[in-house]
Parts: sequence; C-alpha cells; structure tokens
Amino acid sequence: MEELPGILVVLSGPTAVGKTTVARRLIAMGGYVQSISVTTREKRKDEKDGIDYRFISVEEFEKLRDANELVEYAEVHENWYGTPKQPLREALKANKACLLVIDVNGGFQMRGKGYDSELIFLAPPDMEELARRLHNRKTEDAIQQTARLSRATMEMQKAAEIYNDIVVNKDLEACVDEVHGLVQQARRRLLEKKKAGETLYPGLDLKE
Ligand code: 5GP
Repeated sequence: MEELPGILVVLSGPTAVGKTTVARRLIAMGGYVQSISVTTREKRKDEKDGIDYRFISVEEFEKLRDANELVEYAEVHENWYGTPKQPLREALKANKACLLVIDVNGGFQMRGKGYDSELIFLAPPDMEELARRLHNRKTEDAIQQTARLSRATMEMQKAAEIYNDIVVNKDLEACVDEVHGLVQQARRRLLEKKKAGETLYPGLDLKE
C-alpha cells in the first residue's frame, strides 16, 4: 500500500484540556512527531529544554520572528510562543504527521496559510471539569488559574470558526482514537491530491 503523505496537525484547546497527553499518546503510536515551539516563558520544574519547548529570551524570540523563521507566533498569558519552520519541512519530507500544540491565535494563522493542515480543537466535557483538572495540576496559582479559565471561554467561542473538527476529551482513549482517525482521513485526502498531480503544502517550499 502506498505510504500516506505527511501532514501538519494543529492541536489546540483550552488550558488543562489534555493536549499534551493526547499528543504523547499519538507519538507513542508511531508515525507522529511533535513540533517543538520556542517560548519566552519560564521553564516549569518538570520540563526539559529542547523537549517540551526551546526556552529562549525575548531578544532571541524577536530575532527568529524578524528573520521570518517562525511559521506562526502568538502571545499567550503574557509570554511569547512560536513554531519554527524548518522542523516542519523535515517532518513532512519524512511523511510524518507533525503535531503543533498551539493556541487558537496560532491555529487561526495556520488556517490562513493554506498549508494542507488538519486543525483539531480539543474541548473539555464542561467548564467545571476543566477547572478541576487545572486545579489538580498545581502548576499555576489561583490568580493564574482564573486568567486561564477566562481565556478558555474565549478560545471555545472562537474554535468553531477556525478548526476543521472539535473533539471532546472525555475519555482519553476514545479521544486519541478519534483524533488519529481524523488525521488518517486527512492524509488519505492528501494522497488523492498528490496522485492528481497537485502540489502539497503550498507555500512551505519543500525542496526534494
Ligand atoms: P503552556 O504555557 O501551558 O505550555 O502553553 C500555553 C499555551 O500556549 C497553550 O495553549 C499552548 O498550546 C500554546 N502554545 C505553545 N506553543 C505555541 C506556539 O508555538 N504557538 C502558539 N501560537 N501557541 C503555542
């Protein structure tokens, strides 16, 4: 059977909805890689530089942005985050599904580029459940938790206009299966497009 083409998979969703866990599960299945974002945020205790993020200064961030090396970027919770371009090209050339775990502003920018990406929004079963997960995670204080929850409401309102699909993360296994199914479906569509002689990922300039 012909190998399915690579694809950019944008995975967004409100704070503590389980984006990182879903991404880890997909990567463990094989065929997926994660795009490592750059961020100016402080590293958390359990995070590793180069694995969770590349932690950089505001000056370094501005340099990358001004050199047009970020495919999208946004300010989230008063820190800057961005997706470097080159690793995306490498993942696509290797026919991988490349996961971009980014916020809705990043999703909006990716949609506008027309890169043949699959945009999936993960939603919580309800807001009470989201507040409970955020509280139990214990990575933010009470004020930060309130700010993140109010942003979550804004993100969920925007989601329907931007994303191809909204998947509710009630049961982790079911959620991972559903996301994987959507990704494979999108990749089969890309294979048809490729067979029809169309250029994949227009604008990303993949050199053979
Ligand atoms: P956290 O600080 O909790 O790791 O991430 C905060 C938010 O920033 C999350 O919604 C996360 O998905 C988003 N984010 C992480 N990396 C990027 C990125 O490269 N671009 C954009 N636009 N958002 C990002």
